[in-house]
Amino acid sequence: MRKFINTGFLLLGVGFAACQTPMTSNSNTSQSNPKTSMETSYNKTDAEWKIILSPEQYEVLRQKGTERAGTGQYNDFSEKGVYTCAGCGTELFTSEQKFDSHCGWPSFDNNIAGGDRVNQVKDFSHGMIRTEIVCAKCGGHLGHIFDDGPTATGQRYCVNSLSLGFKPTANNKEEKK
Ligand SMILES: [Zn+2]
Repeated sequence: MRKFINTGFLLLGVGFAACQTPMTSNSNTSQSNPKTSMETSYNKTDAEWKIILSPEQYEVLRQKGTERAGTGQYNDFSEKGVYTCAGCGTELFTSEQKFDSHCGWPSFDNNIAGGDRVNQVKDFSHGMIRTEIVCAKCGGHLGHIFDDGPTATGQRYCVNSLSLGFKPTANNKEEKK
């Protein structure tokens, strides 16, 4: 938990610094710190994202949109496998971490590798104080995280299906739920 928070603050700092940097000067001068910024680890322009992503994915991942509750492809979905970031392909969640939250969006109680695939950012939009979750690699918006999860972690990663891809586990394909 503390690690998440620290990462969130780090991200905020990075975001603030990035705001002061002209977006146009995209010179690839990787100087001292190769992995402190999500901007440098996976740097794409808006135009490039629009080519890679569908309009709906772009709206959610890059504009922090939210798909309508209950409409996402992975909301009512229980195949075994790994959920990836729809923006960059990073493996984020496993089917073992998914639980049925009845909230209308795919929900997970943790992310792969104990938390470093997903970063948390304080979100003050819409008159609420929430914690946004973003892909640590490409910065794509995933959803929000809440402290009301029913499992041992106590956490609920509430994620848009549009932010996710899915890789089924080959061995379990025939397994019935
Ligand atoms: Zn990503």
